[in-house]
Amino acid sequence: MKVLAINSGSSSLKFKIVEFDETAGGGAGRQANVRFDGSIENIGSAARLLFRRSGTTIFENRCAVATHAEAVRSMMQMLEESSREEGRALGIEAIGHRVVHGGEQFQSPVRIGEDVFAEIERLAELAPLHNPGCIAGIKGARAVMGSDIPMVAVFDTGFHRTIPPQAATYAIDLDLARKHGIHRYGFHGIAHSSLAGICAAAANRPLASLRLVTVHLGNGCSATAIDRGRSVDTSMGFTPLEGLVMGTRSGDLDPALVGHLMRHEGLTVDEVERFFNERSGLLGLSGLSNDMRDLLAEEAKGDARAGLAIAVFCYRVRKYIGSYLAVLGGADALVFGGGIGERSAIIRARICDGMAWCGLRLDPLRNVAAVNLASGDAMKISEDGAPLACYVAGVDEEVEIARATRECILNRPSSE
Ligand code: ADP
Repeated sequence: MKVLAINSGSSSLKFKIVEFDETAGGGAGRQANVRFDGSIENIGSAARLLFRRSGTTIFENRCAVATHAEAVRSMMQMLEESSREEGRALGIEAIGHRVVHGGEQFQSPVRIGEDVFAEIERLAELAPLHNPGCIAGIKGARAVMGSDIPMVAVFDTGFHRTIPPQAATYAIDLDLARKHGIHRYGFHGIAHSSLAGICAAAANRPLASLRLVTVHLGNGCSATAIDRGRSVDTSMGFTPLEGLVMGTRSGDLDPALVGHLMRHEGLTVDEVERFFNERSGLLGLSGLSNDMRDLLAEEAKGDARAGLAIAVFCYRVRKYIGSYLAVLGGADALVFGGGIGERSAIIRARICDGMAWCGLRLDPLRNVAAVNLASGDAMKISEDGAPLACYVAGVDEEVEIARATRECILNRPSSE
């Protein structure tokens, strides 16, 4: 089956055409070949377009792309031209879309019909910063490709549906919580599921035999405890604000800070929310940047606030790893992914520093060597024989979306 996976954010769209080998024995269709991939970033102004065929860049430029619909149109144009040059039909059989928030109703991937689309639009209220980009991607694809081609929504919250009540429930009035659907949903599920699958393949062990702690460190950051393929706890909660320190998000806080800031800074509720989402985290702590590369450079020049930001960031990750080891009763591997997790050996080393107590011993040379992984690849960075192995994995959300889309179509061909 040929699946177009679309991963659409507020101002970007990433895509892959993934071809599954349906003749492969055993896990038929698990063998995925990426024929085309690319991204359109900075939608709304001078967008950056990147288009690759079998991993080789064939187009990279800045173009005017004002909306997500135009982005889908540009993507389709590039795909069609390239497949014509190859003399092969594009032949897309299904389209998978990443959707950040599936609310309580969508626990697993679902075919997008009118009802489902309306419900996803309604859920934008729960994820105002995240769902609108996904919706724009779906609308754009429908406008350009029509509604005959099956489309599937794959939810970031879906992977976390297995989190047990003691981990998902906030200790507030239960009736009120139920009335408003308040519990820990968890996010980045597609990324964590991808990291777990890539790690299991690299370790040559069935996922169903592994206890893993996956740490996804990008602009948004989260950690997940995965017990034999099932998410049992994760750091993001009702919204993607909870948990680790992120580029501009605070992560965990004392909830009393909301009232305190409103009273003492004269802020409204919306302003406090924006403050925690947009002006906190690495940016707020350092007063300089939300980019870890900048902070490492400034710390090296002696900037104390950059140093503190990095220290708070690493400490919080280590604290979550420790708590998830307690949740899982020990783990087989720790897996790093995301822009920071994949590329920064120094941050990985700082996070893992002093964790020999649980058998986590990094191999410094392997750690430094693991900085430029292709998506879908993994490298072990712990010492051979260390009781808790550590891997760096190149997260591949689009292949994960394509896999889930294929399974949804094959298992539930007419779920609408
Ligand atoms: P997103 O969460 O938006 O998908 P990424 O996973 O690409 O983002 O991560 C982006 C972040 O990765 C950047 O903000 C930057 O802080 C960090 N990053 C990228 N390369 C490096 C590097 N070599 N060293 C440290 N941090 C890096």
